[in-house]
Amino acid sequence: METKKAVVLSGVRPTGDLHLGNYFGAILNYVKMQNDYDCYFMVADLHSLTTHPDTSGLKNHIQRVIATFLAAGIDPEKATLYCQSHLRTTGELYLYLNMLAYKGELEKTATFKEKARQQPDNVNAGLLTYPVLMAADILIHKAHFVPVGKDQEQHIEMARNFAKRFNHRYGEVFPEPEAFNYSHDLLKIPSLDGSGKMSKSVNENATIYLSDNDDTIRKKIMKAKTDAGPQQPNSPMPDYVENIFHLMELVSENSTVSQFRQSYNDCSIRYGDMKKQLAEDMIRFISPIRKKMEDILADEVLLKKVMEHGAAKANEHADQTLAEVRKAMRLNYFI
Ligand code: AMP
Repeated sequence: METKKAVVLSGVRPTGDLHLGNYFGAILNYVKMQNDYDCYFMVADLHSLTTHPDTSGLKNHIQRVIATFLAAGIDPEKATLYCQSHLRTTGELYLYLNMLAYKGELEKTATFKEKARQQPDNVNAGLLTYPVLMAADILIHKAHFVPVGKDQEQHIEMARNFAKRFNHRYGEVFPEPEAFNYSHDLLKIPSLDGSGKMSKSVNENATIYLSDNDDTIRKKIMKAKTDAGPQQPNSPMPDYVENIFHLMELVSENSTVSQFRQSYNDCSIRYGDMKKQLAEDMIRFISPIRKKMEDILADEVLLKKVMEHGAAKANEHADQTLAEVRKAMRLNYFI
């Protein structure tokens, strides 16, 4: 008898082209997980409305995210790949979970405080209840694991709390979801200017996108923040230099990284050479993904087929959960 695989859910917002942070924090895990788990990967278009209310470019952005997923190696026959708004049941579960989420805890969420600071004229209720919608995305599939970057850790903890509260009040329906990364630690890919993480729409020049062409990658990396270099052997490393090493560890050979570490420690390092090497290794890594993505984007029929197929599979699965939820809540009056 076939044992049931654990369920995985994760999503990426279509707020811009995907970058190295999305790749190493999320997508690389998706590609590995699709072989061992029952995976649901979504393009989180509803979440993007909390910060990007203009929907004129949304379809194009959604297609670009799906094309990136496919180019990175997600197989729509193994994993269910769908668009968040195609699952109406998530909206209903979100409503029920909202009754179990408290204003105080939502206001304390780090991402809410950060977004409220970034867009003081649009502190909408969707922004406040973002973690509740995210919990609904996860729980509608009864997911056990959520591959995400470090920035999402608090949201997963909240999803776990909402699941526990639901189970406690209405009966055991949901597993308690956990954040997941194959590297054991959740990752945070730093931006090139040494200030925070790479992100889709905050600092484009300090973020490397999977759609960047070779020249753009070179230019961005050559501009990464450095200084005059260490003056004493074995000096502590400033954050922005550590960040460059961190990026190098992701795309370069181990021997290349150790050679530059060695030259940092004996003060012979030339940051210009290091950045040139990193740029070439980065291009070797990114350009095949970009080329595949461009081919897929030109195939509208394929993109539509993938979305329709994913929506049907995701809906079938979510409908089962919602039926259980309504039963547990005694909302099934016709029976
Ligand atoms: P977002 O781009 O905010 O929709 O995030 C999509 C996924 O990428 C989430 O799992 C994030 O945790 C992950 N992610 C985004 N930026 C980074 C980053 N700089 N480092 C690591 N993971 C990230």
